[in-house]
Amino acid sequence: MYNAELLTIGTEILQGEILNTNARFLSEKLAEIGVGVKWHTTIGDNPERIRQAFQTALQRADIVVTTGGLGPTADDITKECVCQVLGLELVEDALQMRRIEDFFRTRGIPMGETNRKQALVPQGSTVLYNPNGTAPGCWIVCGEKRAALLPGPPREMCAMFMEQLKPLLQPFSSGVILSHYVRTFGLGESRMAELAESYLDLQNPTVAPYANDGESYLRVTALAASAREAEDLCKPVIAKLRELLGEYVYAIDQTLEETLFRLLKKHGLTVGIAESCTGGGIAAKLTEFAGASAVFGLGVVAYSNDAKQTLLGVRPKTLADHGAVSPHCAAEMAQGIRKLAGSDIGLSVTGIAGPTGDGTNKPVGLIYLSVADGVDTQTMRCETGRGDRQYNRTIAVKQALHLLLQVVLRREEKEESKQ
Ligand code: ATP
Repeated sequence: MYNAELLTIGTEILQGEILNTNARFLSEKLAEIGVGVKWHTTIGDNPERIRQAFQTALQRADIVVTTGGLGPTADDITKECVCQVLGLELVEDALQMRRIEDFFRTRGIPMGETNRKQALVPQGSTVLYNPNGTAPGCWIVCGEKRAALLPGPPREMCAMFMEQLKPLLQPFSSGVILSHYVRTFGLGESRMAELAESYLDLQNPTVAPYANDGESYLRVTALAASAREAEDLCKPVIAKLRELLGEYVYAIDQTLEETLFRLLKKHGLTVGIAESCTGGGIAAKLTEFAGASAVFGLGVVAYSNDAKQTLLGVRPKTLADHGAVSPHCAAEMAQGIRKLAGSDIGLSVTGIAGPTGDGTNKPVGLIYLSVADGVDTQTMRCETGRGDRQYNRTIAVKQALHLLLQVVLRREEKEESKQ
């Protein structure tokens, strides 16, 4: 398998001002065509370090892909540095020059002299034209090795990769790499890995455990000559893993919110959502999908006790006797939002996100969730044991989605058993 190194260039990446999404995109796309990304290197706009990093990358990788530093300003020096390492001249590309002139003419913007720099390309390289900007990329053959220089802005870089670079990389493809995710909930990463232990040293497909904010999943990755063959390699392993992990598996590939949305839609069920500590996070997740209005009509962020009483009908006695973070309050919030929204199901969450407590002796990270469907009201307690506000809010959102998913699945089972 050919290997690749990604050089993402830009001081703003090193300083944490922007997230390196280019590296993520390119790694994923190169993996899909069977080119193994073995190194990620990020460097600031410093000529010496760019030259050094490019030289190192060229020594160890078959293909070097750079992003950034192709613009017209003085700190955009990627082409110059690469040419210095390879001993190439920068020459003007007539077609690129016309494109830059047209780009400015059609927009009625005066063209700066520095923009002419963007018509310079490494001698002998294949120019990758940029329909979304003025910086062209290029593809350079350097003996046995290859280098591709792409622009920094993700919109420009992604389009250039997909439309122009990907076809050039085809001869380096060792097949198709394809991944599926066996997603579980309520099972820690170590326990999941223990259960799946006998599959973790498979060679093709490989099975690797991951965890992310309360969810654990197994990535099943196969390499084959075609997508279909890769699917055939994954399928039996996924089936076995499903069997081993049982009811902890809530979906293959789909996220919690996708799974829930699909299921609510399938059964024509609507949900109203009453949130306190998650501040609208659950409603945000459910409305990520086009057509969300089929399943969701109303959400209320009832942060104060007053809002919980007046909007959701939580009884003053409940708040006085048990407090806002209690199973009693969660249940009344779920029943209240169900009525207010006129929905089939009411879902609620109330908790202490932290980092400080609510003045009672209840622990930070304590969360109560409830689902009311007109017949039953089911309430659940969860305690994260952490003082991290963001983490606690994320967990509360996921627990709520998962609780609702369980309720809907149980309804589905009941209905199926009646038939
Ligand atoms: P331009 O013509 O815009 O100057 P360029 O090729 O010189 O293009 P840079 O100046 O390095 O690109 O980056 C332009 C912008 O692109 C950055 O400010 C940033 O917003 C985005 N960008 C650059 N590199 C990355 C990266 N690795 N991941 C995500 N975004 C990036």
